[in-house]
Amino acid sequence: MARTIEIGQTITVSNLAQQLELPAASLISELVKNGVMLTLNERIDFDTVAILIEELGLDVEVKQRDAAAIGVDKERAGAVNETRPPVVAVMGHVDHGKTSLLDKIKGSDKVSSEAGGITQHISAQQVDHKDRKITFLDTPGHEAFAAVREHGAVLTDLIVLIVAADDGVKDQTVEAIRFAKKSGVKIVVAISKIDLPAANIHLVKQQLAEHDLLAEDLGGQTIFVPVSAKTGEGVEELLDMILLSADIDDLQADSRGAASGLVIESSMRQGLGPAAVVLVQEGVLRKGDFLVAGAAWGKVRLLQDMSSGAVEQASASTPVTVSGFKILPEFGIAFEVFATEKEAKKQAETAGRQHDFRSTGMSSRELLRIIDRRAEVQEHNAIIKADVRGSLTAVLDGLKSLDTDEVATRIVDSGVGSLSENDINKAKISQATVYCFNIGVSVAMRRLAAQLGVDLRTYSVIYELLADVKESLEKLLPPELGKIERGSLQVKGIFKTSRKELICGGKVQKGSLSLPSTVRILRAGEQLAEAEVESLAKGSAAAQEVANGEMCGVRLATQTKINLKEDDILEFYHLEARERKL
Ligand code: GDP
Repeated sequence: MARTIEIGQTITVSNLAQQLELPAASLISELVKNGVMLTLNERIDFDTVAILIEELGLDVEVKQRDAAAIGVDKERAGAVNETRPPVVAVMGHVDHGKTSLLDKIKGSDKVSSEAGGITQHISAQQVDHKDRKITFLDTPGHEAFAAVREHGAVLTDLIVLIVAADDGVKDQTVEAIRFAKKSGVKIVVAISKIDLPAANIHLVKQQLAEHDLLAEDLGGQTIFVPVSAKTGEGVEELLDMILLSADIDDLQADSRGAASGLVIESSMRQGLGPAAVVLVQEGVLRKGDFLVAGAAWGKVRLLQDMSSGAVEQASASTPVTVSGFKILPEFGIAFEVFATEKEAKKQAETAGRQHDFRSTGMSSRELLRIIDRRAEVQEHNAIIKADVRGSLTAVLDGLKSLDTDEVATRIVDSGVGSLSENDINKAKISQATVYCFNIGVSVAMRRLAAQLGVDLRTYSVIYELLADVKESLEKLLPPELGKIERGSLQVKGIFKTSRKELICGGKVQKGSLSLPSTVRILRAGEQLAEAEVESLAKGSAAAQEVANGEMCGVRLATQTKINLKEDDILEFYHLEARERKL
């Protein structure tokens, strides 16, 4: 009888190998056969897993765990399930009002302080509505952050898709829909900016119908709520609808046992040391708990909720800041609570060893490149420094997405925190450009960089950083050779023929001739040879250009003696190197 395995919407290659009881190497080679290059800790989606199992001919049935239970062991002993708040991500096209709506819901006004109006890393906030709670995640807003968004949707019960009533469905709207569908997460549509005169709610509904999001008044089942972050209209109703949708899904979690969940942010905090924002998904996280996230572990010293400060405990769907880690945990990974310090330490050490083995610091593309040495990839060396883990992940993922088979960014080093002398020295040695994201750079560091001739750049908007790297990569692309056809000349006289030189005269019969040029020498339509044009002359004077119908002399540099005859045709062309774009 077939064995059954249950996975979430995505699973890491190493976890899948474990579940399938296969050596990871054979799983990776099967993936390679299917044209998918992945390393051990990269993730595969449910559909790919299903295909893979079939191709491997395994007697295993794969089932998708329902969205509400992702990352959660429901069968835990002694678990008491209770209703939990929904976890909601707002997604949509840039400038459609995501930040404004979230601020309105949260009752704050932060939109103006945001660089470029783009939310840079995942943060989370709980709001109260009619004596119930809703957890909102702030997910990155640019398409380059697909990888971070991936975490966003795995975390979420519901996606609020925001579409501006005056702008309609755009690229990132479609991307968010595709993403929600792939992750099996329900969508509630918020049509925003309805206070604007150009607002056209009906048009937005029609556009979304083309993407299978059919409003109730058009005979469908998708909830649409028209809102304005400016006037506040519709915001209460949107929150009602989010809770209604949560009730329909009957979201539950264990309210007693040990906590587990996900790290959604991690950074060094003044006075706190390595700290993380975690989202509790199951159980209760308490002060004093022994918590493990990958190779990082610690005793929870301080728990802070996102608004009012220190708390004693946090239950499911609650985001909290945790301090007490020995080292910074990785962003986007699962955490678990262990009963004793000894167990926690052991688990973290085991995870650390596996991690060292896995993280060769190499992307799958880099691996591929090393395997295939024929592919000579031009590399742009970079050192990346960012304020927090989330930003760093977003930048690194964004950079990875720019790599092609011809050019790629090589990350010489990357890290969270301020720029050090060591970073600049490293950049000098490796001829790397230093990209600083969301961190202040001291005058001393700038001076050192200038002295050493290190290119040091600072950014507060990710896509500006990515656009600059893209430009640097484009400069590394071998230029494209374009042929420009000039004109042709009919030979009327031959004045000198040697092995290295040929001088002839004739009449321009098509186009015009100019320098620099190469010629194809044709006789009765057949090409005899090619040669470089050294000079052109009109009468006895040198010429740069000769027009159609004019007579001229041509001096060619040749490799072998060419037996040119009258009436042969010289076709002039020029090879031009054109810069290429990515
Ligand atoms: P985001 O990029 O999706 O986060 O969009 P923002 O919240 O930054 O909003 C983009 C622009 O639209 C800002 O200038 C906002 O002031 C404006 N905006 C957002 N929501 C509304 C709204 O409901 N009505 C009007 N009139 N303007 C809005």
